[in-house]
Amino acid sequence: MATETERTPEDGWILETQGLTRRFGVLVAVDRLDIRVARGDIFGFLGPNGAGKTTTIRMLLRLIRPTGGRILVLGKELEDHPLEVLAQVGALIESPAFYPYLSGRRNLDVFGHYSGGVPRARVDEVLDLVGLRDRADDPARVYSHGMKQRLGIGQALLTRPKILFLDEPTNGLDPPGIEEMRRLFRRLASEEGVTVFLSSHLLHEVEILCNRVAILNRGKLLVQGAVETLLDTEKVRVILDVDRSEEAFAAISRLGWCQPSPGLLRDGRIGVIVPRARTAELNRTLVQAGFDVSEFAPHRPSLEEFFRERLGLEPHVDETPSGPAGGSGSSGRFRLSAKVPGPAPAPGKARV
Ligand code: ATP
Repeated sequence: MATETERTPEDGWILETQGLTRRFGVLVAVDRLDIRVARGDIFGFLGPNGAGKTTTIRMLLRLIRPTGGRILVLGKELEDHPLEVLAQVGALIESPAFYPYLSGRRNLDVFGHYSGGVPRARVDEVLDLVGLRDRADDPARVYSHGMKQRLGIGQALLTRPKILFLDEPTNGLDPPGIEEMRRLFRRLASEEGVTVFLSSHLLHEVEILCNRVAILNRGKLLVQGAVETLLDTEKVRVILDVDRSEEAFAAISRLGWCQPSPGLLRDGRIGVIVPRARTAELNRTLVQAGFDVSEFAPHRPSLEEFFRERLGLEPHVDETPSGPAGGSGSSGRFRLSAKVPGPAPAPGKARV
């Protein structure tokens, strides 16, 4: 997987948009979007419902035309070289369509034929890659949802694309299905050298899987970069176990330089976002104020916490805080959904 430091200037960006814009009448669904994807990335394209993710992917696949801006794939402009560019690209953007009574293998044969002919050996290779070799001769209609998704990805891989676009690929999958997908994407990146560009609402999933992300809201880019870099922020999250927790909570709220999660956590502990440089000061302040601090566990904020801060949302009330080793710091079930209120940024927060 390429990282910022491993990338050489010759590699460039495998995908780049410059000022990419799409209007539908008066609505600006995608607004001057500049994103950059490096070769070998597993790139997470995140945003709440209606953020413009699908519209962007549809433009990247030339299913709809931009109303402004440029799309460069492998250094070539999509508008000027559509066939050449699209030959390097695979996609799964809606539920894949199959001949239900044909086997998985036969479906790939037929699809390969329509894609200009694909050697038999490649069909077998793809079946292995997507973990369907054992079930290759069963009719596609008996496949589970996860198997159908994997067969759809198999179709997209037949012609050895350099970049694979997936719109919400884990939607509707159960945890083992999601785990299987995760393994598949990692294999594609490491063994086949495919760059994976996937859209998702699932912050926890993206944090585990992707090395780089772009976060979109209301058509605009909020932030993009390597997950590791984004999360290495100036702030840490501290879980506190302290006596007289309600009093301690009130005292922390008055400090002005800490952001406690609203209310106590279910187990009576307190979650608080603190500038990294002031964690010792927080501990000292509480002890000097006469509180008994029996646990003080700082950890890196999760992508969810990062995102909430960027959108100016209240910190999530975390019922299952993770330990000091870090991790999601959340239940892992958080979704960016339409229920996420529109941006009402707190003073000093990112405004979108
Ligand atoms: P979701 O996660 O819900 O799929 P999204 O991030 O993919 O959301 P888009 O589907 O790209 O968002 O939609 C972005 C905005 O563009 C929405 O306000 C949507 O209603 C609007 N939009 C998308 N397609 C069209 C269209 N064909 N005509 C008019 N408006 C559209």
